[in-house]
Amino acid sequence: MERLSISKFWRIRKLHYTLAYSKCKKCGYAFYPPKHVCPKCGSSDLEQRTPPREGKLISWTKLYEVPFYFEDQKPIYIGLINLGEVNVMAQIVDVLSEDELREGAEMEMVFRRVKQDGTAGLIYYGMKFRPAHRSGSSKQGQ
Ligand SMILES: [Zn+2]
Repeated sequence: MERLSISKFWRIRKLHYTLAYSKCKKCGYAFYPPKHVCPKCGSSDLEQRTPPREGKLISWTKLYEVPFYFEDQKPIYIGLINLGEVNVMAQIVDVLSEDELREGAEMEMVFRRVKQDGTAGLIYYGMKFRPAHRSGSSKQGQ
């Protein structure tokens, strides 16, 4: 079973909390998660960028078999979401109806519990997405 240490989580926190990505200054390729070298041209001249908090759904799937720390949430939705220059794969939460998951649907980033470390009692948080522009939804779930 994989365990995320506090120190590892601290190192990758920016990734978790903002979905920061890399953009290559040489060839212009943007990718998530960020790396030290461009996977397209091999350049290490990269800049880190922060994507917008809203994006558009490209496609999604529903998972019935999930890692143990998602047991209480299953089945879960996983979506591929376009955030401008990059696409990210993330969990979609607060889905009231699968009609909300049409291609091109507006999605917004939300900050949610990802997993709880059973032995240490630590709770890890990260970014997930939910259907956007639901009436009154922007002020809820803070
Ligand atoms: Zn490049």
